Amino acid sequence: MTDQPNDRRPSREEAEEAVRTLLRWAGEDPEREGLHGTPDRVVRSYEEFYAGYADDPVALLARTFAEVEDYDEIVLLRDIRFESHCEHHMVPIIGRAHVAYLPRRRVVGISKLARIVDVYARRLQIQERMTAQIANTINDVLQPHGVAVIIEAGHQCMTTRGVHRPGVSMVTSRMLGAFRENSDTRRELLSMLGRPSGASAFD
Ligand SMILES: [Zn+2]
Repeated sequence: MTDQPNDRRPSREEAEEAVRTLLRWAGEDPEREGLHGTPDRVVRSYEEFYAGYADDPVALLARTFAEVEDYDEIVLLRDIRFESHCEHHMVPIIGRAHVAYLPRRRVVGISKLARIVDVYARRLQIQERMTAQIANTINDVLQPHGVAVIIEAGHQCMTTRGVHRPGVSMVTSRMLGAFRENSDTRRELLSMLGRPSGASAFD
């Protein structure tokens, strides 16, 4: 089946040709001097925007450290900035993720928590799924007492087109284990995030 046209990854040349088609569709002349390098640059941008398809998030988290001092409090990495692209319009979703877990025996280097956000952000996404994927992967690999992922993001498909609502951000959260079951644990997390306890969207 792999030689079916739909399964074959297009060549770089075909991808650049597709960009020229979109330029013509937009009303441009791809031969215009200023646009000569554009298909190449767009394709190279795609290599960055969608680099996450080549990464294995489970392998990324697999190297963990045994707890040194029996640490069993919340680990929170907040304000992880990310850029993603919405799968409906292929325009940017730009936001911040807050990732927390409550370790059970194993901890992971904190840079890995930021990397895991990037792996899922660098794919076509919807914010709800990205939030769940990050939480589920951390939960599956580290098997902690709980995981919480909160994402706040602006969607350019909403701010620059369609309903044109600049300044609007969307908040999604996924709480697993202790963060879901124990309101004290959840409150502690929210206070670490600087929100009034008991507030709103995360209950
Ligand atoms: Zn969209």
